[in-house]
Amino acid sequence: MHARRRRVESLNRNSIYSGNCSREPTIPMEMMDLGETNIFNQYLKKTNTIIKNKKILQTTYIPENLPHRDDKIGEIAEILAPALQGDKPSNILIIGKTGTGKTAVMHFIGNELKKASVEMEKSKCVFIYINCEVVDTSYGILYSISNQIIMDPAKRMPPTGWSMDRILSELTAVIEQEKKIFIIVLDEIDRSIQKNGDDIFYYLTTMNEILKESKVSIVGITNNAKFTEFLDPKIRSRLGEERIVFPPYNVEQLKDILYDRAKDAFDEDMLDDDVIPYCAAMSAQEMGDARKALDLLRMSADLAERNGDPKVTSAHVRLARDKIELDAMNEVVKTLTVQSKTVLLSIIMNKENGMDFMTTGDVYSTYKLVCETMGLSVLTQRRVGGLISELDMLGIVHARVKSFGRAGRTKEIELNIPQKICENVKDDEIFTDFKKKNRRQTTLMRCPYPISVSSGNDGVGAFAP
Ligand code: ADP
Ligand code: MG
Repeated sequence: MHARRRRVESLNRNSIYSGNCSREPTIPMEMMDLGETNIFNQYLKKTNTIIKNKKILQTTYIPENLPHRDDKIGEIAEILAPALQGDKPSNILIIGKTGTGKTAVMHFIGNELKKASVEMEKSKCVFIYINCEVVDTSYGILYSISNQIIMDPAKRMPPTGWSMDRILSELTAVIEQEKKIFIIVLDEIDRSIQKNGDDIFYYLTTMNEILKESKVSIVGITNNAKFTEFLDPKIRSRLGEERIVFPPYNVEQLKDILYDRAKDAFDEDMLDDDVIPYCAAMSAQEMGDARKALDLLRMSADLAERNGDPKVTSAHVRLARDKIELDAMNEVVKTLTVQSKTVLLSIIMNKENGMDFMTTGDVYSTYKLVCETMGLSVLTQRRVGGLISELDMLGIVHARVKSFGRAGRTKEIELNIPQKICENVKDDEIFTDFKKKNRRQTTLMRCPYPISVSSGNDGVGAFAP
């Protein structure tokens, strides 16, 4: 008790200092002049003039209306309805590309089920939602299910430490005790399978063989229909008793979705007439993804607000799209392997040295130099060709096969990323050493093509990432 008080007092004493490394006293909050003005006011005033309710445009917001998904809601509700009367519904597998409304629809159905359970005298059904991207271990999934059933914190299972057998048998006992139908939604189910294999689905789908008074139904949601190929055939057929496919939205559907969200998010006249059709058209090209369409609308409005413009126009949408594309490409490039990044750096170096189009051989010569300077193992030209094809598939380069008649065929490679991303690649920490060594060795290194000076260093004319 005393020790605890001493610790609190010492924390309080320390709190007047701005940090461990600085002993400069800072002014306690209560002694500060907290008048009307602070540096944030200018930004607060500037924002929130166009968007009335930012929350509604966020992708985590669950709208009350889900235009163009009535049919899917109906199909799922029909399958799950028996749960309300205490009968086990079939397991369902929901398949569809990202942004087709799978998660939103299941949350909507969960809310409706909860409402129906409350309206009925004696609720027979429990709805449990788990995102396997967030909870990414088999133990975590079972723990998370148990946590949503056991309300008393003192009786909850430990987040780690038990064996799988123990947590599974305790969970089965808890479920049995409830005497209810459990609808367990496992969103992004393929993530869990990639990481943990299919044991968890085996446990959950076979639990019904032990349960007598309660039953469990699984609703699996996935963006990747192919994942089922990796499942044990028995689990595959159990999980996919009912399959529901969510198709991508078309332009008209995306427009309706955006109009529906925009009417609550914006005051009238804050959007030019062509803004929503433009956002919808751009997103329809990209696989009919409602998330992308909403992101585009939100970012366009953000840009307009930050610019202090009176309303959102198609020019803001274009700017927002460029920014989204840049961010997405940056993410892709960041996650490349060291070898792929080195191939990309070689292509960038060639381009900066005047080669707008290059052959695999051109890339390979530079690649070898870079690897040797970095002390990285050198792959064969064939493997490097494969990595170039991967970069092509990711849209980072364009590679086309060109025929030279009798002289044969060769790949013509062209860089396809904006300058800003090239700079990011060059600044990648894996090339820090290369940068230093390359500067030092330039006078010795024989380069296979004319080289330009890209920054004011030793002036030898080397590539300086
Ligand atoms: P998925 O789970 O298929 O990747 P989500 O359900 O997360 O897609 O939907 C992405 C975003 O688009 C969410 O913000 C969601 O609210 C919205 N959305 C998707 N479909 C609709 C719809 N029919 N009506 C309104 N908003 C939708
Ligand atoms: Mg989802």
